[in-house]
Amino acid sequence: MSGANPYKVSIGLETHVQLKTRSKIWCACPNTFGSDPNTDVCPICLGYPGSMPVLNAEAVKLTVMAGLLLGCRINHYSKFDRKSYFYPDMPKNYQISQYDQPLCTGGSVPIEVDGKPKVIRIHRIHLEEDVAKNNHFETASGVDFNRAGTPLMEIVSEPDIASADEAFAFLQALKQMLVYGGITDGNLEQGNIRCDINCSVRPDTQTTLGTKTEIKNMNTFKGVHRSLTYEIKRQIEVCEQGGKIMQETRRWDDARGVTTAMRSKEYAHDYRYFPEPDLMPVVLDDAQIDEWRTALPEMPQARRTRFITDFGLPAYDADVLVADKPIADFFEATLAAGASPKAASNWVMTELLRMLGEQEWSVSEARITPTMLADILRLLDEGKINNPAAKTIFSVCFTEGGDPRAIMEARGLAQVSDEGALDRWVQAAITANPKSVADYQAGKKAALQFLMGQVMRASQGKANPPKVMQALKAQLDG
Ligand SMILES: [Zn+2]
Repeated sequence: MSGANPYKVSIGLETHVQLKTRSKIWCACPNTFGSDPNTDVCPICLGYPGSMPVLNAEAVKLTVMAGLLLGCRINHYSKFDRKSYFYPDMPKNYQISQYDQPLCTGGSVPIEVDGKPKVIRIHRIHLEEDVAKNNHFETASGVDFNRAGTPLMEIVSEPDIASADEAFAFLQALKQMLVYGGITDGNLEQGNIRCDINCSVRPDTQTTLGTKTEIKNMNTFKGVHRSLTYEIKRQIEVCEQGGKIMQETRRWDDARGVTTAMRSKEYAHDYRYFPEPDLMPVVLDDAQIDEWRTALPEMPQARRTRFITDFGLPAYDADVLVADKPIADFFEATLAAGASPKAASNWVMTELLRMLGEQEWSVSEARITPTMLADILRLLDEGKINNPAAKTIFSVCFTEGGDPRAIMEARGLAQVSDEGALDRWVQAAITANPKSVADYQAGKKAALQFLMGQVMRASQGKANPPKVMQALKAQLDG
């Protein structure tokens, strides 16, 4: 048997992205997360008969900007349609979406897996409304309409994705571009990005796509990866055993790590789309599109180049910092508060990222601000604190916030550079460790480090290390 895979895998993703607008798509209710159930609602987003939707221009702008980022064609004319939808989270019994004339078509997302670049083509991007959220309790269920009417952009990829790893890379690349573009907050815990997966396999020799299954409503990238790994293996096993793949919707059971059949797949005609009579078509001219194009913020690649050329950072630092926009923003704000680029980069890449990782926090959850970090670096630079003290202050700021100088004073972390005090500690270390002194004088340089450690310990970590070294050498060599 050769190692080549006798099956080809084709995956297409329909990614739903909640747009970062102030208000909902058809009404003036706030587009926020976490309010008490059914408080951010009105007759329009509750779907009362006779209420009239008014299109939020900001939602169109963000969708077009996303299209420009992904290199899509922006359609000068697009319209909204009603899609039949019969579930309790949508009392109108239809969802307003775009059927045959979406805002954007074409485009692509570049990805890289195992060092190999690839381009995943985009089929289209359309704008629609999010539905409410069903909540299930022990003895009852409830519907929370705060989410109903949140502007939702659906990005439909071509079935160019060939593995679970590529799907993961696609979602990460897409998220990075959209967060950079200010299109979405990209917060997965809040359901800002959810996707439906279409997956099929076929023998390597077959040119037409195999029968696909759909896995609905995935809300973590890890879940997409795991469910695809399972589903690809399952489909190949069915084929190997001479079976037939059924076109169906499958549910991902995260706890059991399997997909199970849910219902046979709807075809487009089941949705009975028809033009939305209450909304005007969206007509965009070139001037408008160009204005939005100019408003596009800096993308990761351009920022990376700027970090290297303007701040003199190594390529490695630039890569780590730009990978996550809030981290790159934090870094730049630290510079704006007066820190030097390399020092700020080192502290962001080591202490900040390490502590965020330990807490599983995003940078906005940490209490430390760029100004606090710049203040810590200033104290360090001025020799007021040493490195261990800086780390202690950083850690306090990270969890509690506060003024670094006040923390230094309150905790007695100021570095001791006073020569009288240093000389006393140095003398004590020399008297207490005659063997190390003899070793050093016999040429064993490591003994000096030991004596240095003794002095640091005696000073409870507060002695100024370069000055201790100086004083030790002066006394031993002199
Ligand atoms: Zn409303």
